Amino acid sequence: MEQIANIVAGLDVEKVRKDFPILGTQVHGKPLVYFDNGATTQKPQVVIDAEARYYENYNSNVHRGVHHLSQVATNAYEQARQTVASFINAAHSHEIIFTKGTTDGINLVANAMSRRFLKAGDTVIISAMEHHSNIVPWQIACEDNGATLKVIPINEKGELQMEAFKAMLDETVKIVAVTYVSNTMGTINRVEEIIELAHAKNIPVLIDAAQAIQHISIDVQALKPDFLAFSGHKIYGPTGTGVLYGTTEWLNKLPPYQGGGDMIKTVTFAKTTYNELPYKFEAGTPNIAGAIALAAGIEYLQGLGLEKVQQYEEELMTYALQELRKIDGLRLIGDAAHRSGAISFLVHNIHPFDMGELLDQQGIAVRTGHHCTEPLMDLFRIPGTVRASLSFYNTKEEVDKLVAGVKRAASMLL
Ligand SMILES: *Cc1c(COP(=O)(O)O)cnc(C)c1O
Repeated sequence: MEQIANIVAGLDVEKVRKDFPILGTQVHGKPLVYFDNGATTQKPQVVIDAEARYYENYNSNVHRGVHHLSQVATNAYEQARQTVASFINAAHSHEIIFTKGTTDGINLVANAMSRRFLKAGDTVIISAMEHHSNIVPWQIACEDNGATLKVIPINEKGELQMEAFKAMLDETVKIVAVTYVSNTMGTINRVEEIIELAHAKNIPVLIDAAQAIQHISIDVQALKPDFLAFSGHKIYGPTGTGVLYGTTEWLNKLPPYQGGGDMIKTVTFAKTTYNELPYKFEAGTPNIAGAIALAAGIEYLQGLGLEKVQQYEEELMTYALQELRKIDGLRLIGDAAHRSGAISFLVHNIHPFDMGELLDQQGIAVRTGHHCTEPLMDLFRIPGTVRASLSFYNTKEEVDKLVAGVKRAASMLL
């Protein structure tokens, strides 16, 4: 029998796992098998340490004080912005806005677009596989302006129908907002093509990169999105952190999202002038420790090498799909040719919650439910799915445990 190797392309997974304290813990007396990375990733010790170091050594507000600690904190916070900028190859670090997460970033853009760039008769395009956070902010924006939300359809494999998308691009469209990778089905969308087609008609594009940034190398100057949003906690950083990338041109055009300290240049009761980028969009004291720890997470990933990570994760995905497909009665929800991260499935008519509960008893963490994509569940006419989502610290042995766990659960439930 072929030896199961977890060292692929120079990524020593057993060694890497030791960087994540939680991976050594037990759940219900069983070693934790964590396949809920699409919901949030675990944190390496360097991220936990970076957050603690800020509070232990230089906790202070940024951009305000002339005193020493404030300057150390400001330098670390701005260095974190540089780290993010170079990670996605942004042309300028002022194009990096620190947010609370993907939801916050999308709301910023939707809110600002709504106030300046949408009117009755306009159209906003999203896709059928969007997360609620890339649906609801646009619904609100459309409702407020009498604009229309249109949805790019998908085929039965869970891939966007590009011909239908092309036909939707008329002069009423004011923005296209689509996800790079589906958090439910793992579909990798052809975002390069989407951006090219939209730009040919001078339509800006927002990319929801919440499920892409941790798996796929992104160069914003090559990809050319107008906006790109992601969450820190899904790329090995802390919760409550995130990034909105925007081009200088668009960020200058948009009005501020929130008012308050730090986002202003001068304030009188008659008139306020706004600060320059990126501060115009960072009202109030930011999550300083979080941004610094997010940068530590990104540096950790860069240290492993995103190409190596990607190659290993692809191999693991192929193995998981191959083994899951062998299970009697298992049906994949979404079977795209190009995929990353998430695998959704159902087994016979077993309810996903029941499956999830029995897997949990075996120490296996998966997500069950609609995964914040209720309209997608309606399209497939299902109440939800069982979703296993992979990271580079998962192993083939863990995939085997998942497969055995699903089989055992099915035998108990059928
Ligand atoms: C998780 C997720 C979001 C929302 O991210 P938050 O961290 O909850 O703000 C948006 N889009 C996709 C595709 C996601 O996976």
